[in-house]
Amino acid sequence: MSDAELLLVFDSKVDRSGIDGWTQHFDSTGTTATTYRLGAVDVMVAQGPATRLPAPEDLPRPAHTVRASGGFRLGRRELVPSGTKVSIGSAVIGDGDIAVFAGPCAVENREQMLSTANAVAGHGAVGLRGGAFKPRTTPYSFQGLKWAGLELLAEAREETGLPILTEVVDPRHVDRMAEVTDAFQIGTRNMQNFSLLSEVGRTGMPVVLKRGFGCSVEELLTAGEYILAEGNDQLVLCERGIRTFEGSTRFTLDLSAVALLKRRTHVPVMVDPSHSLGVPELIEPLTLAAVAAGADALLIDVHVQPQQALCDGKQALLPADFGRIMGRLDSLALGLGRRLGIGPAADYSQIHDVLTGDVV
Ligand code: PEP
Ligand code: MN
Repeated sequence: MSDAELLLVFDSKVDRSGIDGWTQHFDSTGTTATTYRLGAVDVMVAQGPATRLPAPEDLPRPAHTVRASGGFRLGRRELVPSGTKVSIGSAVIGDGDIAVFAGPCAVENREQMLSTANAVAGHGAVGLRGGAFKPRTTPYSFQGLKWAGLELLAEAREETGLPILTEVVDPRHVDRMAEVTDAFQIGTRNMQNFSLLSEVGRTGMPVVLKRGFGCSVEELLTAGEYILAEGNDQLVLCERGIRTFEGSTRFTLDLSAVALLKRRTHVPVMVDPSHSLGVPELIEPLTLAAVAAGADALLIDVHVQPQQALCDGKQALLPADFGRIMGRLDSLALGLGRRLGIGPAADYSQIHDVLTGDVV
């Protein structure tokens, strides 16, 4: 059996020559060592005989060391105990505040995108969601407006000031998309598309990685390593429901995974109750439960005319219902010693109305 890995975490007190000294030490003792940049720290992963022996006295001390085994390394909570903060434009995920991203499942047309964007912005969302490229289960369903949809998202950002999050489905699209979007979403069907993960990882831009609906928490964590191993710590993991024997909701929202991820990784956690449940009535209770379980962020489908939606209309909330959830989240946050993040375009009179019980 091979040795467990030793992870050495170096903070800014240790410079390049110190790290090179450790690399030479490991090289000379038949031990492999690779160093990754992770936010403000360097993490050296060493495997081999020297990890069991005392290190030479003249090498600078790491801030701490962690023994690990298996493929889950750079995401381990022990490496960044306070948690990593991910910035998507003006929105921050992982700073303790509850960050809500909302918008339509798919960008359909200018009127739909702008009116939905303005509505969620008014209710205090910190970011906009919207799919321009839609990975549909059948090729005969609406596939998204593609590059034209991305332009409409950019226009919605211009109008509301909110950053945009959109799904990338093809490694060949990454560079062109990076010029417009603020963050990449990797959908459930692509969680293990490893070349796509490495490609978005290399951009250094924020990535929201959704859990495969047939994948374990461990597989989600190791998929996330593909992005972290590119030296990109701007990663968010998203629970969006898994397939179980239970057929009364679209998927089963695995809130144990949320509580578990918060303990195992420093990477912030998002929950998408919309795609998980598939019906609007259950979004509010499960949104609140997700936050109680520790979610840092939420991804919620909102549409100004759900009956007319070209994609996932059945699960989209009307703006007023979204506004009511924002009010409930605000109250819940208070009880948990947290705050609801409020976006730059929030209309405080609407939020106030919601908090005082008047549904707008
Ligand atoms: C989406 O968020 O639009 C989406 C397609 O989600 P998922 O990949 O979770 O099905
Ligand atoms: Mn959808």
